[in-house]
Amino acid sequence: MYKTFQIKESLPISFQNEVEEYLTPEVVTIKLPPNHESLTKNNIVYKDTILFLSNYNYYSPISGKIIVNNSHELQISNDFMENYYQPQNSSRQKKYSIEEIRELLIKYGFSNFQILDQLNRKKIIINGINCRPYQINQQKYLLNYSTQILETCDILYESLNPQQLIFALSSKNTSIIELYNNNIGNYPYIEYRYFNDEYPLCYPEIIASKLTISPEEILYLTIEDVIEMYQIIKRKRPLSEKYITIASPEIDKSFVLNVKIGTSLKDIIVKYQLPTTNMLYLENNILNNDVINPQEYIIDHTTQAIYILKENIEKPGRCIGCGKCNEVCPFDINPLDKAELVNCRRCGLCRYFCPQRLDLGRSKDNA
Ligand code: SF4
Ligand code: SF4
Repeated sequence: MYKTFQIKESLPISFQNEVEEYLTPEVVTIKLPPNHESLTKNNIVYKDTILFLSNYNYYSPISGKIIVNNSHELQISNDFMENYYQPQNSSRQKKYSIEEIRELLIKYGFSNFQILDQLNRKKIIINGINCRPYQINQQKYLLNYSTQILETCDILYESLNPQQLIFALSSKNTSIIELYNNNIGNYPYIEYRYFNDEYPLCYPEIIASKLTISPEEILYLTIEDVIEMYQIIKRKRPLSEKYITIASPEIDKSFVLNVKIGTSLKDIIVKYQLPTTNMLYLENNILNNDVINPQEYIIDHTTQAIYILKENIEKPGRCIGCGKCNEVCPFDINPLDKAELVNCRRCGLCRYFCPQRLDLGRSKDNA
């Protein structure tokens, strides 16, 4: 059984209720993978024009004109028209073959393409647990998109024909539990399971082991995956915007932001007057040390959260050999052993529990 931990949220971070929207950036930037041909400068693009083909198709999140195309990035200037390449085409179809689902996900650039070979697995786990400290974008999706999430469950259940569809929720989030339980009559096949907010339950093998299911048997989906599937399968559109958490003890109210993919963090900083002097900006997991340059960072499909913390001027201490880092690692890795670190899953627990605050675990650059 994997070790999991409750993380005390002791930083003075409080969230506002409303989701903020920033859907009209002047410019979006799309990072180009190496050796891929994309549209050229001065091309006019619609909102779902394919920009380039990579592991997955990459679509324009806005309509406008390509103003920069160098070897590594493409910039599109927004015409604010939101012109679509295709007419709106929301489908009522509930049942597809597995191959049809796979083709749709490939066609519309589903970002978690690793699961494309897992669609025929026997059990589906949808993870709606509050998985990471100070990260609430998934919880906001659960509250604001319950109809779409449940409709997607229906499509997945009808189409993939799993033996079980398990929906994991945080036991402390009573308003979400109530919301989904109110719909239980329409979706009787969904098996809800409730978990304490323990970390790192956001790893497929860990939540599978808590449910005593083999990880090889499961199709593991996050709430973000389900939202993207809804957009693709139901609306026949690629994902062009997403919820991210912006959290900091240095701002009055932290918030969830609905933002266009491709938006520059520096534009968000200006719009919401976020602090930058002597601040560290971190990406996605506050337990890791994934420092980003806020002036260069672009919101992409992988962005979950941005944390803003005061720069720590205290130098970390020296290892006292207490062994805590090794003891807490859910994956039984000794963070002090370089050879073992190649298997590090970057959960950040060793770093969090180290009494000397040493920067442990594998760095993002080596991921
Ligand atoms: S937890 Fe920190 S101080 Fe203790 S052994 Fe690990 S690195 Fe050293
Ligand atoms: S070694 Fe890696 S997987 Fe293990 S606790 Fe540290 S960050 Fe997590």
